[in-house]
Amino acid sequence: MHYIQVALPVPLRQTFTYCSPQPIAVGCRVWVPFGRRKLVGVVVAMAINKPGDFEAKEIDQLIDSAPIFTEVVFTLCQWLASYYHHPIGEVLHSAIPVLLRKGESATPTDTEVVTIASSSPDDWSQQLARAPKQLACMQAICSGETDPTALRRDFGASVVNTLQQKALLIIETRPWNSIANAINFATYKVNQANLNADREQALAIATVSQKLNQFAPFLLEGVTGSGKTEVYLQCIEQVLANDQQVLILIPEIGLTPQTLARFQQRFTVAIGVLHSQVNNTQRLHIWHQAKQGQLGIVIGTRSAIFTPMARLGMIIVDEEHDESFKQQDGLRYHARDTAVKRAQLDNVPLILGSATPSLESLNNALQKRYFHLHLTQRAGGAQTTNQIIYDARDQLIEDGIAEGLLSVMERHLSLGNQVMVFLNRRGFATALVCHHCGHTPTCQRCEQPYTLHKSNRTLQCHHCGASRRIMQQCEQCHSSELIMEGSGTERIEHALARHFPHAKQVRIDSDSIRGKGRLQGLLEDINHQRYQILIGTQILSKGHHFPHVTLVVVLGCDGALFSADFRAPEKLAQLVTQLAGRAGRAQKKGEMWLQTHNPGHVLLQDLINNGYAHFARHALQDRKLAQLPPYSAQALIRAEAQNKRHAYDFLHAAATLLAPAQQLNLLGPLPSFMEKKQGRFRFALVLNSPQKAPIHRALNHYLAQISALPLATKVRWSVDIDPIDFS
Ligand code: ADP
Ligand code: ZN
Ligand code: ZN
Repeated sequence: MHYIQVALPVPLRQTFTYCSPQPIAVGCRVWVPFGRRKLVGVVVAMAINKPGDFEAKEIDQLIDSAPIFTEVVFTLCQWLASYYHHPIGEVLHSAIPVLLRKGESATPTDTEVVTIASSSPDDWSQQLARAPKQLACMQAICSGETDPTALRRDFGASVVNTLQQKALLIIETRPWNSIANAINFATYKVNQANLNADREQALAIATVSQKLNQFAPFLLEGVTGSGKTEVYLQCIEQVLANDQQVLILIPEIGLTPQTLARFQQRFTVAIGVLHSQVNNTQRLHIWHQAKQGQLGIVIGTRSAIFTPMARLGMIIVDEEHDESFKQQDGLRYHARDTAVKRAQLDNVPLILGSATPSLESLNNALQKRYFHLHLTQRAGGAQTTNQIIYDARDQLIEDGIAEGLLSVMERHLSLGNQVMVFLNRRGFATALVCHHCGHTPTCQRCEQPYTLHKSNRTLQCHHCGASRRIMQQCEQCHSSELIMEGSGTERIEHALARHFPHAKQVRIDSDSIRGKGRLQGLLEDINHQRYQILIGTQILSKGHHFPHVTLVVVLGCDGALFSADFRAPEKLAQLVTQLAGRAGRAQKKGEMWLQTHNPGHVLLQDLINNGYAHFARHALQDRKLAQLPPYSAQALIRAEAQNKRHAYDFLHAAATLLAPAQQLNLLGPLPSFMEKKQGRFRFALVLNSPQKAPIHRALNHYLAQISALPLATKVRWSVDIDPIDFS
């Protein structure tokens, strides 16, 4: 018998010993018995000796004949487990495609793909007018569902069969690797002539080219529209010419067909795309092809950082400041920081790009740990946006927008330009209040007022998703005088429709863009000027190009000026700067107006007068004085439970255990910003230290004891290293 150490997807910080009749290589998967369950585990080590004190169980089945982890990804997972103090079994599982977690073969099989025979819905929508199920099935295919199994499940096998017999849809078997057959990268051709890099771009590209084939981190700090993407493209070109692969990380919302098209048009290499709408089969195929070296470029969101690559030559993290790179549950890793580690392990250059770099990355660049590249001018002669503070004090404000700003909008609209209004709150009103007794309907599970949504007549809790119909009478005093307080995007939409009856408007928030391809359709309509007024939440701020927008109006930023979160100023500054970057992209000069009741606020003044780059360096000084990250290290132990005492007492006991640790300051247990969510009370224990090492030392030393606390099984608890969100 051979003894092996197996990592299992269970929340225990340990591995398990099993035995097997044959030796098994590290990185292979096995089916093993675990309690009364069967689990897929990953072999992490050979155990030389038979364990003395217990009888090791035998594995049920070996799944892989060769390791499914590349050496780099396996080492990366070990680093993640130790840096984020997360169970290795869960880390290894997070790092592989879902189908592999379920024990499926790592060599993909051929798939069936559904396509529509005629590209125009006019040809079949009439014919199917009286067959609603068949029509719905065809529409599902149109909006991107190509998996026949899913269609049979959703619409019934007979519907799919009938459509096939009517020759409206075609089901073909495609070899799994048909989206990209092996390509010799050296023969790739450039489809589109390169733009002439300007002086700063040329310098950036040249600097990166000198550091190929070695670990070299770069921060590309370039104002919005300065041509960062063009720099990426020209760097990628050199890597592909070396017959190497490129891994690109992009925030979820930024990975639009617009962005993809820029990469696809430039290169003919096969590109693998990974985002939330890619199905599990496709994921496995991309994983496999990348590992085989058949994809020149893999572009994806956060978890794409785990993609195995045969010949990785470069990693790029675009919009590196974006918060979506940090996972907020389970393995709470930061994909940008993981990318730094991965670039080290793969020995390749890494470009972190942003117009509004995170203070962490900026500090690394200023401390010369990263090479610092600058693009200070907008590319192609586009002009910078004028930023203006609108003093809303004593002004007439209706539905959340000041009258004076309506005249500014009028001016831009009358010139035939588009106007964008930003407000980071969806819904109509932020609360319903009884005019008679003051009662506000509140979600019991989160102890927060419901947001009122007029469009579907519901009250919704934005924290747990609960929803109920709007009541006509106060639940407490039965008065029917209910007042709608505060404004969300829906209310702004109503108000502007009243003021500008001739301007067509579109609302872009997570309510209005539900459904595959919906956002993309709206973005195209906007750029074809089918709308004059755009109203939306922060989805609008992320990377989209709106060449006809000349005015951006920012509402509701006062809250962030006085937030208890020390990162709030940084987040606001990034948001405002990114929003300003949406205006005046083409030859038209743009304007941004910020409506505020605190026109003299230092942060706003600094940002408006001196720009993000100046603000950020200033903010770093403040962090240094206050000894906050990145000048100190932080970790949280979070706990939540239905019983408030359980959560608090657990963290209190953890704090008592941690108390003797050296160079460690403990704060709390403190109630989280949202003390109750989905019926659970939430607390956090903050670990602070001037350096990272003492935090890791303390967790390594005490986590086992904390896990063994009696309350540990009564609460949901987790460790969050380098937390960015204290809610
Ligand atoms: P960023 O990624 O910094 O926001 P982009 O790469 O999207 O900037 O560039 C903004 C616009 O400027 C794009 O339309 C791009 O085609 C154009 N552009 C970029 N570099 C150049 C250049 N060297 N000459 C002319 N136009 C350029
Ligand atoms: Zn009342
Ligand atoms: Zn709720």
